Amino acid sequence: MTTAIYYDELFIEHDTGDSHPEAPARLAKIVHQLRRHRHWHPFFQEITRHATDGEISLVHSPEYVKSIAAACENGVLQLDADTWISEKSAEAAKLAAGAGLQAVAAIMHEEFKNAFCLVRPPGHHAEQDRAMGFCLFNNIAIAAKELLCNFGLKRIMIIDWDVHHGNGTQNAFYDNGNVYYLSFHQWPLYPQSGLQEEVGVEAGIGANKNIVFPAGTTALAYMDKFKTEVEKSFQYFQPEFVLLSAGFDAHINDPLADLSLQANDYFEMTRLVCDLAQQIAQGRLVSFLEGGYALTALSDSVEAHIHALNSA
Ligand SMILES: [Zn+2]
Repeated sequence: MTTAIYYDELFIEHDTGDSHPEAPARLAKIVHQLRRHRHWHPFFQEITRHATDGEISLVHSPEYVKSIAAACENGVLQLDADTWISEKSAEAAKLAAGAGLQAVAAIMHEEFKNAFCLVRPPGHHAEQDRAMGFCLFNNIAIAAKELLCNFGLKRIMIIDWDVHHGNGTQNAFYDNGNVYYLSFHQWPLYPQSGLQEEVGVEAGIGANKNIVFPAGTTALAYMDKFKTEVEKSFQYFQPEFVLLSAGFDAHINDPLADLSLQANDYFEMTRLVCDLAQQIAQGRLVSFLEGGYALTALSDSVEAHIHALNSA
């Protein structure tokens, strides 16, 4: 079996306006590089379904889901300080969430080794009732709900190594002990949430863990902490399925943050997560593209990520 990459050209049509960091060129560059290095053809899978309003409403309020479609129809361009949309954005966002649903079903049915959703808009900042930080629908949270509700799993682990805290994902499962959220992020940094003392509430206590790094943390210090905390969390939670919010903006060249990772570090991080998923979660792993804004750093890191996923 191989890794599956879910992608659709519609994602390029989610237009965020001139000189926005979360630009269509991000995906165009990644696809171009993967094709050039023959890392595309064996992995690419067509996305055959949108997420339905009902599926998206497992995480978001129905009113909010309708408001995104209406905003696109009415030509609204801006949803919050950083989040811009265009005519095709609602459809692209539903397809991005659909990719995650299709991917988790394919992994549950043992069709592929693991999967990478090469999608935009990204998802981990999207809150129950509002768009935020370039994100419309929380793709990874919707996939986690699918695994809980339709596949009957009881222990889903979400690892989020995007350099920003995934506030939307944390909040979606803050009182839920069935989803363990482990985030590695720079702090202080947008969105300012994600402190170590945020550990969950009610049934979710102990199933939310934030690991923070100050600006300027070396790759060596980051990798050391990452390895220790990922291993500890796997042993503690014993996940049945692993979801990964894979942003690549902790790269040393990224313009939006100040950490120091490079493409080979993402290879090592992916290998570690794959090895532990193999030992504990039957290898079940679906990764979602979140951030990453320096184009060459992003495409090199995604390529390293896919290489590691496929060699798992
Ligand atoms: Zn980010």
